[in-house]
Amino acid sequence: MRCVGIDLGGTAIKAGAVSSDGRILDRRSAATGLERGERHVLDTIAALARELGVEGGLGLGVPGLIDRERGCITECPNLKAMERVPLRDELARRLGLDLARVLLENDANAAAAGEHWLGTGRGERDLLFVTLGTGVGGGLILDGRLYAGPGGLAGEIGHVVVEPGGPVCGCGSRGCVEMFASATAATRRARELGLPREKPGDLAQLARIAREREGAERELLHAVGRDLGRALATVVSLLDVRTFVLGGGFGAATDLLTPGVLAGIRERSYGERLATVRVLPAVLGADAGWIGAARPLAP
Ligand SMILES: [Zn+2]
Repeated sequence: MRCVGIDLGGTAIKAGAVSSDGRILDRRSAATGLERGERHVLDTIAALARELGVEGGLGLGVPGLIDRERGCITECPNLKAMERVPLRDELARRLGLDLARVLLENDANAAAAGEHWLGTGRGERDLLFVTLGTGVGGGLILDGRLYAGPGGLAGEIGHVVVEPGGPVCGCGSRGCVEMFASATAATRRARELGLPREKPGDLAQLARIAREREGAERELLHAVGRDLGRALATVVSLLDVRTFVLGGGFGAATDLLTPGVLAGIRERSYGERLATVRVLPAVLGADAGWIGAARPLAP
């Protein structure tokens, strides 16, 4: 059976079709066109889904908080116009699908499910997927299934505190790992140190130099990794999860972050299990979200 997954973002909609046995069949994308209003966005999603062949159902990954029962977004700064729009009902009606075949999931959770189904986490029983982008997000797979919690907020590693007196975070707390290890935070830290010298704050170049030689660039990525590892140590201690998959734009530096991450975990947790902790790069990139959004539709 053919299922469609949609990754609804503030500027772009990524979509694709996947068979229930996990073969990627087709991909599409379109501009979200938020400025043209909610109906336009719904029509665009419905058109993509129709083109892709939606008989098996439609899964939507959306940023922000969702209400699963009503099938809508409750809070999302990037998709303000779509808040409280009955996405599930409207799309089911437009596509002639049963309500039960239209599913909503938070985008980080969807990406976690995608990586677990067809990416790095294939076959793993437990893992935490971590996105390193503007912020730090995450999704938790426990016992082979996505664990989202009642509000879809499980796995949100970004707001685990690693420095109680640290800088104030957007969430209102202080010293969240997001303030130290997101791509935004790493850019800021690099700029503060004037790294790399040619273009302070350029993470791609920073990573290139760190890969080439020892020095301040490599040390900074080690320090960023260590802060992330301190947050992941909490996950190791609480859940005994030992596999971490790093995605998002900054996830491309996983090889450089890993030594620091492992040092951070070692510093803040204990036991023999540390020998079996693994930090792996995500492989599906921008496809993880739509693939994971379609995951629950496959048997
Ligand atoms: Zn926070």
